[in-house]
Amino acid sequence: AQKAAAAQQHADGGTPTLFDKIINKQIPANIIYEDDTALAFRDINPQAPVHFLVIPKVRDGLTQLSKATEQQEQLLGHLLIVASKVAKQEGLDQGFRVVINDGRHGSQSVYHLHLHILGGRQLGWPPG
Ligand code: ADP
Repeated sequence: AQKAAAAQQHADGGTPTLFDKIINKQIPANIIYEDDTALAFRDINPQAPVHFLVIPKVRDGLTQLSKATEQQEQLLGHLLIVASKVAKQEGLDQGFRVVINDGRHGSQSVYHLHLHILGGRQLGWPPG
């Protein structure tokens, strides 16, 4: 099943990213939630006391939010539900922030859609 998932990720023509290796358990990550379609793991360079990422397990063209299609509406909704569920699991009862960086101006560096969830301190606004 893992091989099939990897093949599907590459079927979108996108270059494999390090998140593919995390999904396939080829490189270690601190995974805090997993289901059939989504994975959540701690950011390696946390910007808040709690900082984790939520990603779709199969990229299927979703290198970034601006590439999303109507067919992915349910998956996109699911990622938000997972973000909220894991935020609760992480004890973020005072609130948290969800960020999706898109493209160059969004300072996106990994081209596999991911939600950043940050919390555990008072966050400032606006972001830089
Ligand atoms: P940016 O790097 O500007 O935050 P992104 O929105 O693409 O842009 O975020 C990628 C995130 O992935 C970064 O927060 C980075 O710390 C995180 N990251 C990179 N490599 C790993 C890894 N091996 N395990 C967990 N998180 C990682």
